[in-house]
Amino acid sequence: MKRYTNATFYTMRFENETYKEIITDKGYITHMGNDLSNINTDEVIDLEGHFVFPGFLDCHMHILGYGQKLFYPSLKDVYKKDEALKIIKKAYNGQTTLVEDYAPIGLTHHDLDQISSTQMIILRHQDYHSVTVNSKAIEFFKVEHHQGMVLENDAQKITSFLGQYDEQTLKKLFKLSVESLWAYGITGAHSDDLYYYTGFKSTLKVFKDMLPKMPFRTQLLVHHHVLNDYLQSGEPFLDVNPYLQMGPVKMFYDGTMGSKTAYLSAPYQGETHQGFKEVSPNDFDQAIQFARSHHLPVAVHVIGDQALVDICKLLIKYPAPKGLYDRIIHAEWMNDEALELLKKIPVFIDAQPQFLSSDMPWALDLFSKKPKYQFPWKTMMDHQLLVGFSSDAPVETPNPLLGIYDAIVRKSKHDNQICQPNEATTMFEAIKAYTKTPAMFTYHQNRGTLDIGHIADFTVFKKDLFGLNPEYLKEPLVAMTIVDDKIVYQANK
Ligand SMILES: [Zn+2]
Repeated sequence: MKRYTNATFYTMRFENETYKEIITDKGYITHMGNDLSNINTDEVIDLEGHFVFPGFLDCHMHILGYGQKLFYPSLKDVYKKDEALKIIKKAYNGQTTLVEDYAPIGLTHHDLDQISSTQMIILRHQDYHSVTVNSKAIEFFKVEHHQGMVLENDAQKITSFLGQYDEQTLKKLFKLSVESLWAYGITGAHSDDLYYYTGFKSTLKVFKDMLPKMPFRTQLLVHHHVLNDYLQSGEPFLDVNPYLQMGPVKMFYDGTMGSKTAYLSAPYQGETHQGFKEVSPNDFDQAIQFARSHHLPVAVHVIGDQALVDICKLLIKYPAPKGLYDRIIHAEWMNDEALELLKKIPVFIDAQPQFLSSDMPWALDLFSKKPKYQFPWKTMMDHQLLVGFSSDAPVETPNPLLGIYDAIVRKSKHDNQICQPNEATTMFEAIKAYTKTPAMFTYHQNRGTLDIGHIADFTVFKKDLFGLNPEYLKEPLVAMTIVDDKIVYQANK
């Protein structure tokens, strides 16, 4: 038994409920109180006056994809063409070269051909739905392009080819990723990884081999392209072991704002099209029915305002298996019709607060008819919708404090304007969206809050998040991360 002492434990069951000490045994909380020193324990852990929460979860990300981003050269925050070309030139190693995090700033296949015309150069866009490539890659993959820019399924074809790593490399990506997540105080994530690399079985094996060595509560979404492999594998739905669950079936109803492939209710500003729908798979009715025939919920990528209305109607037409919830990932633009529909379906919303600061105001400017609700997490929560927060890493940095900042401050990184201030959540609501609510997505009653019998997963901060000036959230505040009663990360003093 261990006694964790000298701290403030926020249970997150109710606002302001705290304790000073917690005792755990074999990975579970056995006692909570303000002085437990009368109980005999084998070990006392002094938390130095810090502030403890239930382990933070990231409810939508890509664990291996994030590892990949940490592994490859990046164009993050590079907005000048000549600067970008310099970085790509330096990254070019005489072989197929991938560079991450490109913000479309107008580089073309001709620009990249200057660096190499004989080897492929691939720039993965920040939104992960497009790539910009040189002529060699266009020729090799025989894909449609516009000035070297390749969209959606064609882009996927190229990045899947790149993801054919050997097992050791995939394990390295996992390790890089989870070490970084621990350092951000994350104790678990719901992740979409099983399709993009060497296949369902070999990718799942990486998680099965690594998770016991690097404890991290992982739920893996089953991408619709590997659904048959999953069904044949005999793996259960949900718990494989205490660290690993199989999750719902991942599908993409539409694309992204940046690529103008999100499906809107009116044409894009200055364009004649509304974006794409039924992106992957291209028969959604059939795909949802197939999932239902195997008693599985779905997790659907939805960005455009019309896409949200459409998907709600489909989930009403083909309801989730009894007792289970579907998931809608993103859902950042909403109108009243969608809000009313959402209230009728058992659904979790996987939202990304950091998209607000990254995408405002340019994404809103793409609408010819602006949606009434923009990143409307407060409205959703006030209507009792279940909203979990996440980073969609590698798209955003998986630092939950940055997500909390965006949820409560709602300020654009580009023009510093506040977006719909009435949609700001409270600190309690924001933390709940990283703890209690996403834990519901695991269907475990003993996760997401601190209570007797609950798992000993804790995120420890150096400062009290309640009452803190939000600007401090940009500082490295994580003191310690504990998963299954094991200290997996400890900040340098
Ligand atoms: Zn994603």
